[in-house]
This record gives sequence, C-alpha cells and structure tokens, in this order.
Amino acid sequence: TEDKRLILKLEGITKSFGGNIAVKQLDMEVMQGEIHALIGPNGSGKTTTINIISGIHEPTEGKVIFNGTDITKLKIHQRAQLGISRTFQNLRIFPDMTVLENVLVGAHVNYKSGLKVIFDTKNVKDEEIRNIKKAYEVLEFLGLQDYADSIATELPYGIQKIVEVARAIMSDPYVVLLDEPAAGLTSEEIERLGNTILKLKEKGITVIIIEHHIDFVLNLADRVTVLDFGEKIFEGLPQDARHDQKVKEVYIGG
Ligand code: ADP
Repeated sequence: TEDKRLILKLEGITKSFGGNIAVKQLDMEVMQGEIHALIGPNGSGKTTTINIISGIHEPTEGKVIFNGTDITKLKIHQRAQLGISRTFQNLRIFPDMTVLENVLVGAHVNYKSGLKVIFDTKNVKDEEIRNIKKAYEVLEFLGLQDYADSIATELPYGIQKIVEVARAIMSDPYVVLLDEPAAGLTSEEIERLGNTILKLKEKGITVIIIEHHIDFVLNLADRVTVLDFGEKIFEGLPQDARHDQKVKEVYIGG
C-alpha cells in the first residue's frame, strides 16, 4: 500500500456549528482505489466529515485536497464534476420513476455542456442516447438489469440502496462517498451490498464508507479512520483497529 497514490487529503479540518465543534483538527489520507471506512460512535463527526468532502459544508478551518488540488472552496456540483460522488443516509429514490430513470438522474452531473446544447436538439438527443446506454451498462455491471423498468420504490429496500450506488457511479467518479449504506438492510442484502462495493473497487473507484455495522465494514475496508468526539483516534489497517485499545474503549463503552 506504500506506493499507492494519495487521492484525497484532509488537512487540519475543523468544523464548528455555533459553539459545537463537530470535527476537530482532522487529518485524513485516502489512497486511490482503496475502500476507506470512516467509523465512530453517534455524533463523532462522520457525516460532517463526508459533508465537508462533498462540499455540503465548508470547514471552519483546514483544507480539502483532491488529486493535488485545493477544493476547499468549490461548490458541490464543481466537486461532482471533478469526480466526487455520493449517496445519502436516507434513500433519495424518486417515486413513480423506473430504476433506469432513477439511475439516469446521476448522468446530469455531466449534463452541463453549456447552454448552446439546449438549442441544439441533435446534441441533446445524442447525449441522451449515450446516457441511456451508459445507464444500462451500469445496471448490468451491478446486476440490476432485470429491474431496469421496475418502479424503483416498489423494490426491496436493499435493491433500492444499490440503485443509489448505480446512480452515484453514472458520472464515472473517482471517489464515491457512501453514508451508512447498510442501515436497515437484511443480512443477505448487506452481503450483496458488500459485493457491490467490491465491484466499485475492482473498477478502480475509491470508496469512502461510513458504517455502523462494524464487522461488515472492517471486513470490507482496506483502511479505516476512527473518530470519537470529532477527533481522529485511529487511522490504519482494519485488523489493527480491532486490536487498538482506544478503538476498543470507544466501542465497548458505546
Ligand atoms: P456522526 O455522523 O458521527 O453521527 P455528525 O457529523 O452527524 O456525527 O455530528 C457531529 C456533531 O456535530 C454532533 O454533536 C452533531 O449534533 C453536530 N452537528 C452536526 N451537524 C450539525 C448542524 N448542521 N448544526 C449543528 N450541529 C450539528
């Protein structure tokens, strides 16, 4: 892992909401192509960290460096265009839309070719056809092809979660942020989710995953960062995290 390239770096990130410090002086390094787990008890700052990476929050202090570029001041859509994509803790599946249509929503990150495209119907049509082809490819890649025409919200919860992953990779991101993807899933659904995440890794996509199912995520991850009260208490290999005294205290205490 030593020769792996750094893709994302947080430098001294602090985020306070009023007087409440959600994340404190956080340094974190994510290597290209790895599955990086972000764990810690409730309220330890995981979601805030993900929101700072995706651009929902601007940090109070510190820098976000992506592929060597300081993106701290960039807007959400600018970061998305650079290749940072995410899913949310709660499902954001559009009702009355098919799986294919839900996945197509993820293409619109790339749909910013400028106004002239709107006046050029041929370009719009070509782009739409490319996107639909791409959506079918993504569905097939994740084993969802049989569901393409199903109404997404009528499918089992675990499938809907994978539809969200499909949407997140429509834009060919470098990094995908998954916020508690296993929440509310059955054990079979969690297994399928794990396989899906491994597929993203095979494709070379870097995955940062927040998760409460500790065994699941430690088995999956290449490296792990552990937060407690907004501070990093561990960064390293999952097998080392399992034996780390501070990490154990946080989990046994919580
Ligand atoms: P986690 O994802 O680990 O459960 P969060 O990042 O959601 O933790 O929260 C960390 C801390 O920051 C908590 O004390 C939470 O109450 C606080 N916090 C998070 N978001 C906000 C917000 N928008 N406004 C005020 N406080 C917040």
